Amino acid sequence: MASLSMGISYDLTYDEIDRVVASGHIGNYAYGYLNDKGIFIVRYVGRSDTDLRERIKHGIEDMNADPNCRFERFKFSYAKSVGEAYEKECKNYHDFGGDKGFLKNRVHPAKPDGYVGSCPICND
Ligand SMILES: [Zn+2]
Repeated sequence: MASLSMGISYDLTYDEIDRVVASGHIGNYAYGYLNDKGIFIVRYVGRSDTDLRERIKHGIEDMNADPNCRFERFKFSYAKSVGEAYEKECKNYHDFGGDKGFLKNRVHPAKPDGYVGSCPICND
């Protein structure tokens, strides 16, 4: 079974993001909701190359604009480098369906500035 490798989920609110995510770190995140068995259902995966805490907040705006997106909770993890964050985002993206419609992501993760190499999953 596919795993995000991110730990537990939290309510997607400004207060909760500020409480659990440290400022100024590179990292990965996912939005989703808990199904009736309490399992986190992934709806979107992303990363920040600069400040994960601020980046995660855009999901609240997306949720306000369209509650059907079900960005009700989030998970996150820190990364040591933008390359590491990119490669993890690619793995998350492909593991959870890529562009097949399971995720709200509509395009493949973009490479960070200066990254040489290709997606470790699809070599794009
Ligand atoms: Zn790929």
